[in-house]
Amino acid sequence: MKINIKTKDDINYMRIAGRKLANVLFKLKKEIKIGISTKYLDDLAFDLIKEEEAVPLFLGYNGFPASICTSVNDEVVHGIPSVSKKLQNGDILSIDIGLSYKHYCADMAETVPVGDITEEDRNLIETTRESLFLGISQMKPNNRLGDIGEAIESYVTKKGFSVVLEYTGHGIGRNMHEAPEVLNYGKKHTGLTIKEGMVFAIEPMVNIGTWQTKTLSNNWTVVTKDGKHSAHFEHTVLATDKGSEILTFMCED
Ligand code: MG
Repeated sequence: MKINIKTKDDINYMRIAGRKLANVLFKLKKEIKIGISTKYLDDLAFDLIKEEEAVPLFLGYNGFPASICTSVNDEVVHGIPSVSKKLQNGDILSIDIGLSYKHYCADMAETVPVGDITEEDRNLIETTRESLFLGISQMKPNNRLGDIGEAIESYVTKKGFSVVLEYTGHGIGRNMHEAPEVLNYGKKHTGLTIKEGMVFAIEPMVNIGTWQTKTLSNNWTVVTKDGKHSAHFEHTVLATDKGSEILTFMCED
């Protein structure tokens, strides 16, 4: 398994790509409200990515028909934006979005509440966000890949939720998906040794109920097997000499 170590130049471009992507998602999030369709958000994402002089990574990827994935409630990942899918009060919406700039990729995801959501959903969202940051805190030279997965899984389990096992994070660079697979579960002190210059997309997907999922007949949308809700957070993260740098970091207002 060859893991790309990024050069200074690579990192500079990936930093720009990450900043552009965070900027796009920041603007997109402001438009999320009751009554809009997920297709509206997709059209807007396409325009915002073009404004950044970047390329939407997901559009056409293995035939995917949109620039973002919009996964609502029990949809885990790969939800397809649609004019008929209108956001309702109490929904939770996961947006997964990626772009490339000068052929360098950035990938991120966030789950956002629509209107008033339940306490359980709020807890799910906060747990998933926190598990991502706990995973990121393990992304440093001489740590192992299993340290990231263990940090995510142990926290999620402690909160009474479950980590989706079939879908994983990944290396990222000039390709959206590079080696290695970055699992959201694992054992401390096991797996690949992390080195300065590696960049991973770390992306825990967390379910309220069972970890098991199924794919709908459109061959894209992944939903929980028990119909309970799911959340997803992702950042593109660089291992530095000191620790890690989140390349898709978003400054909230
Ligand atoms: Mg990803």
